[in-house]
Amino acid sequence: MTTPAPALYWLSRDFRFSDNAALNAALGHGPVLVVFLLDRQTREQGAASRWRLQRALEVFDAGLKRRSGQGVMILRGEAEEVFPALVQLTGARMVHQNDWPSPQMRQAQSHLREALRSVAGELKLYTGHLLASPQRIRTGQGGAFRVFTPFARALRRAGADRPRPDAPRQFAAAEPPAEVHGLTVLPLSGLNLAPDLHRGAAVLERFALPAGEAAAFERLDQFFDRAGPYPEARDRPDIDACSGLSEHLALGEISPRSLWALASLRAEADSAPGPGGAAAAGVEKFLSEVIWREFAWHLLLEDPQLTSLPWRRDWSGFPWRGEGEDLQRWQRGETGIALVDAGLREMWVTGRMHNRVRMVVASWLTKHLLIDWRLGLRHFENCLTDWDPASNAMNWQWVAGCGPDASPFFRIFNPETQAAKFDPKGQYRARWLAGWQGGRTTPEAAAFLASLPSDWRVSAPWAGASGALLQSGRSRALEEYRRFKDSDADS
Ligand code: FAD
Repeated sequence: MTTPAPALYWLSRDFRFSDNAALNAALGHGPVLVVFLLDRQTREQGAASRWRLQRALEVFDAGLKRRSGQGVMILRGEAEEVFPALVQLTGARMVHQNDWPSPQMRQAQSHLREALRSVAGELKLYTGHLLASPQRIRTGQGGAFRVFTPFARALRRAGADRPRPDAPRQFAAAEPPAEVHGLTVLPLSGLNLAPDLHRGAAVLERFALPAGEAAAFERLDQFFDRAGPYPEARDRPDIDACSGLSEHLALGEISPRSLWALASLRAEADSAPGPGGAAAAGVEKFLSEVIWREFAWHLLLEDPQLTSLPWRRDWSGFPWRGEGEDLQRWQRGETGIALVDAGLREMWVTGRMHNRVRMVVASWLTKHLLIDWRLGLRHFENCLTDWDPASNAMNWQWVAGCGPDASPFFRIFNPETQAAKFDPKGQYRARWLAGWQGGRTTPEAAAFLASLPSDWRVSAPWAGASGALLQSGRSRALEEYRRFKDSDADS
């Protein structure tokens, strides 16, 4: 008896078995061969998110083995070389993939389609990274939204797509071929996706959140139980009020559609008369934040250069400063501004940073130091475990003032006022700055100091800068901005 040809499933950003349209479709065509590629876009991704991706891959591989007895096949190479070779070797015809509409992925998909044509193969894409198909959320004139509030209204009116049925608990998987001509098959055990993680994996491991699909659902469930204070407390880095789901969403360990469906059910149940009203409001606010993520992807789809060019192209000539000592000091959390330094140190040690603090550190870089937002974006890309190209770019452009619906340039965050408002007792700053205000060094602050590369000079205990820095940076930024705008008006 001949073995049936397998269906190929390209595992890229969808490390889950629930609401996984591509996996389900592949299962309908025969035993599935799950393939992960160590391709250019994975190798070029930031180190911390690559490290996190490996954890997602490990958990998915274990789940696949439990369900089918087979693991993920890992190949080094580009999609356009790997999949035609697999089609020829196995007799498969279709490659199924959940779409991840980043510009790099779009390019890889287009090359793959072209290459598959010569072997009579086909790439089939499925949605799953977004709440709703972008074609469904358009303005009255059929264009893309450029402003968040009407976008959010339209999305709520149209509703999120419904999650697809989950993959079966047991299914048939194809045994991965031992070798594929001309390509390197890599064992998961020997895969080191982030050899360039400067602070070393041990640092991130210590503060890492559990990875994988089960952990994502558990985190969501736990968040629902503490969602009541979220609307007010979500801006407080000293309080654990946010969901911590961004890593899971970035890796597709939970789909936004499943998250939306569960949250909507929960908000409905909690809004029944009784004590659940506050929780319902919390879940509602949480959903609004999830719409920001969706908006970011819509912007990136509309303008694939969102990660490298200002959305408002008239900002192309702004005289940003480039690399140098000020950028280095910012990256190392040594600006002398407590909230800024605490945030950058938190990111170095955990791969995470609270949203309010992300805004403050980004504002400090772009508005006080006048350094190019793209240098900040790249540092975040390298350091964040929840790195997401769309959210990262939209938010950097928002803070810098050159994005759609952005914070105006003249609105400059004052980190001291922000700290007084959102970290009123200084607990967050004390956690990350060794000896801050004469206090004891916390385990987090000690972990930061212990993780520093040998060529970084960072002083401990942490020393603050003079208040004059705050004012002088602000005036310089405003002056520069006026000059830029005046020259714009002249030209
Ligand atoms: P919660 O408050 O629990 O929010 C729930 C979910 O809503 C998040 O998981 C996220 O998916 C979404 N969300 C919340 N706020 C935003 C926002 N401002 N923009 C887009 N989506 C949002 N988020 C990323 O996932 N990846 C990034 O690379 C990234 N880079 C950022 C860079 C800057 C300069 C700034 C200011 C923000 C950035 N964010 C990014 C957005 C935000 O900071 C994180 O999504 C949030 O801190 C994640 O924590 P949480 O899951 O606990 O959020």
